[in-house]
Amino acid sequence: MTWEPVIGLEIHVQLKTRTKMFCRCPVGFGAAENTQTCPVCLGFPGALPVPNSTAIEWVVRLGLALGCEIAPRAVFARKNYFYPDLPKGYQISQYDLPSCINGRVLVPLPNGDHAVGIVRAHLEEDAAKNVHVGGRTGRIGGADYTLVDYNRGGTPLVEIVTAPDIHSAEEAKRFLQLLRQTIVELGISDAEMEKGTLRVDANVSVRPEGSDELRTRCEIKNMNSFTHIARGIEAEVERQVAVWESGGEVEQHTYDFDVATGTLTPRRAKEEADDYRYFPEPDLLPVEPSAALVEQLRAGLPELPAERIRRVGETLDHERALVLVTGGLDALWRDTVAAGAEAVAASNVIANQLVGAGVDPGGVDPAELAKLVEARERIPRQAFDEAIARVAEPGFSAAPYLAREAVSDAAALEPIVDAILAANPAQVEQYRGGKEGLLGFFVGKVMKETKGQADARAVNELVRTKLNVDV
Ligand code: ADP
Ligand code: MG
Ligand code: ZN
Repeated sequence: MTWEPVIGLEIHVQLKTRTKMFCRCPVGFGAAENTQTCPVCLGFPGALPVPNSTAIEWVVRLGLALGCEIAPRAVFARKNYFYPDLPKGYQISQYDLPSCINGRVLVPLPNGDHAVGIVRAHLEEDAAKNVHVGGRTGRIGGADYTLVDYNRGGTPLVEIVTAPDIHSAEEAKRFLQLLRQTIVELGISDAEMEKGTLRVDANVSVRPEGSDELRTRCEIKNMNSFTHIARGIEAEVERQVAVWESGGEVEQHTYDFDVATGTLTPRRAKEEADDYRYFPEPDLLPVEPSAALVEQLRAGLPELPAERIRRVGETLDHERALVLVTGGLDALWRDTVAAGAEAVAASNVIANQLVGAGVDPGGVDPAELAKLVEARERIPRQAFDEAIARVAEPGFSAAPYLAREAVSDAAALEPIVDAILAANPAQVEQYRGGKEGLLGFFVGKVMKETKGQADARAVNELVRTKLNVDV
C-alpha cells in the first residue's frame, strides 16, 4: 500500500513592532535580562493592557497577503494556565474570533501551484523566557534551577494555522520558505528561526493514498531550521507508516525532533484536551478594523513572492526562480538582466557566487554586475572572484577587472598542459579508455598551476584536444 503524508503547520511569528503588544516596553533582543518590563507585562494587579495598533494593522496585512477574510470584529480572550513564564496566570490571545480566517496560499511547485488553506491567523502575546540552568543544557529535566527573563513576555505574536493540506516534507519546506519571505517583505518580522522569531510545529498523519480520511496525528516541535522540519516530518511519516503496517495504531503524541540523531522523542503522554478556560478579556475592547482601513491596507500590499516566483519562472526554471525570490534576490536579477546579462548566467552568479561571498544584494549596481556576468569566462577566475567580493562597495567599477584578460593563448598554456599530462600518465590512460569525467581533473590542475589566471574555456579546449589527438 502507498501512504500519503498529511501535514498541517502551526507557525508563530514574533512581530518587530517597536513596543510590546499591550504596553510601551521596547521589543528586541540583547538587552540585559529583566530590564524591558513594566507593571503591565509583569502582570501586576490592577495594571491595564492597551493594544498596540501597529500589531493590529500588521496582522491584517499578513492576513490579506495570505488570502484571508478579515474579521470585522475580533476578540481577545484569556487563555489560563500556570507557568513561571506567564506572570498574569493567563495569556491574552485571540481565540474563537481571530482577526483573519479562511485564507489560501498558492505555493508554486515544479509541477504547478498547490493550494494550502489557512485556517486562521490571530494575534497573541508571547510568554517570557525560561532559562534552565545545570543538568542537560537547556532542558528542564535534570536542571538545577530555572531563571526567567521577562523581556520577551508580552511581545506581539501572530499564530498562523494551516489546514492539513500539505502532502510531503518537501512541500512543507516550500510553503515555509514562501511564507517566511512574504513576512519579511511585509516588513512585520525578521522571521528568523535561529532567533526564535519564527517557530514552527508540524502536525503529521498518514493515510492510504487516494483516501481522504484524517487519521490520528502527532505533533513535532523543537525544530530550528526548514531542513530540520523536513527531516522531522520524514522521520515521523516513516514511523507512522511502520506502526500502521505492523497492525498497530498511531497514538496522539507530541515529539521533539533531535537534530543530531535524527530521532523523535516523545514529549508528553497521550494528550488530554487542554482546558484553558478561555473567556473574553474583560480589560480589552473587540478589535474592529474599519472596512476603509482594510481596503487601504490591501491596496498597500506589495507584489508578493508567490506571484514573482511564477513570473520569474517564465524565464528561468522553477528551482532558480524559487531560489532567487525566496532569497530576496530577484529584483537584482531582473535589473542585471535588463542591463544586458544573460538570464541563466546572471541567476547563477547572483544565487551562487554573490551569496557565497556574503555580498549584500541591495548595494549592488546592476549595470556593473551585468558586465562581470558577461565577462565571467573571459577574465581570470581570480579577478572575477575579487570583483564579486567587492561589487557592493560604493562606487564599484567593473572596468579594472575586465581589463585583466585571462591567459588564453595556446603558446602560453601548451607547455603547462603538456607537463600536467606527462605527470599523470595513469589518468591520461583512463581518460582515453573512456573515463571522460577526468577532464575536470586536468583542467583543475592547469587552473591551479596558472593561479587562476587562465581562461577556463581555452584550457578545456586545449586539454581535450591534446587528450584526444596526441595518442
Ligand atoms: P487543535 O485544536 O487540537 O490545535 P486543530 O484542529 O487546530 O487542532 O489543528 C491543529 C493543526 O493540526 C492544524 O495545522 C491542522 O491542519 C493540523 N491537523 C489537524 N488534523 C490533522 C491530521 N489528521 N493530520 C495532520 N494534521 C492535522
Ligand atoms: Mg491549535
Ligand atoms: Zn511592559
